[in-house]
Amino acid sequence: MADPVLTLHELETWSRTGTSLAVLGHPIAHSISPPMHNAALAELARDDARFADWKYFRFDITPNELPRALDLLHAKNFRGVNLTVPHKRIAFDRVAQIDPAARPAGAVNTLRWAEEGWHGFNTDGYGLTAAIQENLGTEFAGHHVILLGAGGAARGASVECLQRGCASLWVANRTRENLEQLLATLAAVRPDIPRRGFSPASLPTDLPLGAIVVNATSAGLRASDAPPIVLSDLPRPAAVFDMIYNPPLTPLLAAARDHGWLHANGLSMLVHQGAKALEIWSDVPATRTANTMLRAAHRALAR
Ligand code: NAP
Repeated sequence: MADPVLTLHELETWSRTGTSLAVLGHPIAHSISPPMHNAALAELARDDARFADWKYFRFDITPNELPRALDLLHAKNFRGVNLTVPHKRIAFDRVAQIDPAARPAGAVNTLRWAEEGWHGFNTDGYGLTAAIQENLGTEFAGHHVILLGAGGAARGASVECLQRGCASLWVANRTRENLEQLLATLAAVRPDIPRRGFSPASLPTDLPLGAIVVNATSAGLRASDAPPIVLSDLPRPAAVFDMIYNPPLTPLLAAARDHGWLHANGLSMLVHQGAKALEIWSDVPATRTANTMLRAAHRALAR
């Protein structure tokens, strides 16, 4: 049976005694994180009784409800929380402590319970790097990167690219103000690496050849969405990565395929960021649960 979509109301009256984990988002019905995590937890429980009562739930929580939800989850002793659209940046300001690696991104996707409050982490960068290596056989170090988007996911991705030593970072976003905010946030991260913002409607003439293009916008989630950039207007990239995994072939990836360019969707990133979150909660290495999560993700998407 599919994991039910729970609400703030159910959290108010929560009385489960086992170890509980949760993902919060709005919307959340599409999330395949619960089957992924619950498959990994079931496998861990077969070898280790510690995991017998661990379960991962999903909650549809609006931004207005988020502060109350985080307080309740803490009071009800949830061991860990994942945050997805649109909560990653809002939650950043509500944690008691931030993992140093998550601070420059200004966004958290993973929280771990601690007596004094939530500890915040961001595993999206880890997931992205692992996916780029696994699916595209490449890495950010030494490569030019063209990043599309300036939301929560783009924050994690841009910090990851800079910290990994990309050759240059080019960020395109529809809304100028959000782009400027992101670039301001990045000012202190590897200032030696050139970076530039631009509008996807007006491309700079000196965009680099052989870049890794990363889509961190939501454009492509719906079949009717236009791609976030006209790919054929870019100099030939080395590879195109779309963080979206459902649908598996977005208009951007279809364009990459039509050009015969290396491309991959975000499923592997989802799996690796999830396995890293589970490592943060359980101390089980991410590499041990990633394959189980990937199989569960494929099953969930096939349903
Ligand atoms: P977010 O904070 O809401 O940011 C959304 C971004 O998409 C903004 O830059 C926004 O631009 C842009 N955008 C939205 N609709 C657009 C459109 N129609 N055309 C062009 N740009 C558009 O969301 P997020 O958390 O960053 O997530 C972004 C995407 O990454 C989502 O699809 C999410 O599912 C995916 N993601 C995947 C993984 C994974 O593990 N595979 C992890 C994280 C995120 P404006 O500033 O102009 O509004």
